[in-house]
Amino acid sequence: MDIYETDVLIVGCGIAGLYASLHIDPRLRVLFVTKEGADTSNSWLAQGGIAAAITVEDDPQQHFLDTLEAGAGVCDESAVRVLVNEGPREIAALRQMAVPFDLKPDGTLSVTREGGHHRDRVVHAGGDATGRETVKTLSPLAQTRPNTAFWEHSFFLDLIVSDGRVRGAYVYTEGKTRAALARCVVLCTGGAGRIYGRSTNPSVATGDGIAAARRAGAALKNMEFVQFHPTGLHEQGAPEGRAFLITEALRGEGALLRNTKGERFMAGTHPLDELAPRDIVSRAIVRELNQSGEEFVCLDITGRGRDFLKARFPTVYTECERRGLHIERDFIPVSPVQHYMVGGIATGLWGECTLPGLYSVGESACTGVHGANRLASNSMLECLVFGRRCAEHINAGTPERVPFSPPPVPSPREGDAVRAAAARREIRAVCDRDAGIIRTAAGMARGIAEMRGITESLDATPSADRETCETRNMAHTALCVLEGALSRPESAGTHFVERGAQ
Ligand SMILES: Cc1cc2nc3c(=O)[nH]c(=O)nc-3n(C[C@H](O)[C@H](O)[C@H](O)COP(=O)(O)OP(=O)(O)OC[C@H]3O[C@@H](n4cnc5c(N)ncnc54)[C@H](O)[C@@H]3O)c2cc1C
Repeated sequence: MDIYETDVLIVGCGIAGLYASLHIDPRLRVLFVTKEGADTSNSWLAQGGIAAAITVEDDPQQHFLDTLEAGAGVCDESAVRVLVNEGPREIAALRQMAVPFDLKPDGTLSVTREGGHHRDRVVHAGGDATGRETVKTLSPLAQTRPNTAFWEHSFFLDLIVSDGRVRGAYVYTEGKTRAALARCVVLCTGGAGRIYGRSTNPSVATGDGIAAARRAGAALKNMEFVQFHPTGLHEQGAPEGRAFLITEALRGEGALLRNTKGERFMAGTHPLDELAPRDIVSRAIVRELNQSGEEFVCLDITGRGRDFLKARFPTVYTECERRGLHIERDFIPVSPVQHYMVGGIATGLWGECTLPGLYSVGESACTGVHGANRLASNSMLECLVFGRRCAEHINAGTPERVPFSPPPVPSPREGDAVRAAAARREIRAVCDRDAGIIRTAAGMARGIAEMRGITESLDATPSADRETCETRNMAHTALCVLEGALSRPESAGTHFVERGAQ
């Protein structure tokens, strides 16, 4: 087997992986492995911004309280303290790195408000292209570091574990499987939105890191918490797949939710009305849809003029215009859509997992900061704060690599694409039905039984092409979501169990 040796192996080049790599001691060799290029990740698509208490009207304590409130009693308070206290310094560091944040005329950062925040604290770039602008800045910085090698269009298959420690990973690259041996592996593989029929996530979000960590014996945490975004663009007869996101920042700028008769329905459901935490808004929309029998509700930003909307939300404005919607005069049809994996690979305050030699940062990880429901724009902040901390932990004491010969594994071979596609459809149907916004005990139990059948069938052919490997990872991740959900009988945040319902 072809062996490559490095000190730190980072899987995934979203904001978590990129930012962590920039803080790794330059004397350590870093290898990046990523499925596609830098422009295919949740990070690239992030619109609204990054939350941090950076203004004089705000303070980390208020950010702490808002995060706990959204997290519905499940947050890890020590992780939240770290997030809110260390967040402002990461924003300053990004400015130093020349991320082109939007500024006010006086040269200070422009901040907006999103759901669940009691202060304006969300910094943004390119209007509503914060993720893209941040990745475009960080990616070349990471790629040009002399200690860093990049394997793009390369697929991380599984972790290599020996004597209870992670020693590296098997990676399928340039037509063959290679063993990338490392002193530690950092999984920054992002979320798993594609286990649902409609998601804001791109095609790479198949839960590969979460599934591989679980197969290797690392603990997962809070997998039952899956965030749905209330306002995915509803497109008539849209094919299964990615839904375009209408950022929450529109509601921060005054957009209102209305039913198709034009009536508001959020008033009175929460003191923040349309800016209530996402789980509350998503459930209110589902109830409204169940009552009306319609497939969508409407987002109304017609109170704002065309020039403002084009300048502040260029991405949303253009994408809607492309579909014939002029948002300064037309209501935007929206419905809830899978958006973010709150749970993931359990980590401590330095990104360390329960399996020695393994770290995880970003959406694949679960630090506990989001509790049962992520506060808007806290996820990119989490990537930054815990990415830097993870690097510091690695710099402070990664043990020397011991000589080690990995057992060879068969290379992926042509799989059965038809079978993989059918299995994906089944996985999505089960998740939509039994692991969605409103769940029932009977539904979750039924979903587990079906998902076990799907995983067993996919496990029976362990070596296959990328599509089949991803499909297997989706099934493993979906099973963890369902099992986590059934093991938590009480509702909390994004996990809402309807009592007495079948
Ligand atoms: C449409 C949208 C809008 C959002 N808006 C905001 C926002 O305004 N503010 C905010 O804070 N958050 C937002 N989020 C959430 C936020 O963008 C993500 O949670 C965060 O960027 C995740 O970063 P990450 O680095 O952990 O993962 P990602 O950015 O998803 O990167 C994952 C990386 O892992 C790689 N990978 C995965 N599996 C493999 C494998 N098997 N082999 C090799 N490579 C692999 C992928 O190719 C990719 O490079 C948004 C998300 C979406 C989808």
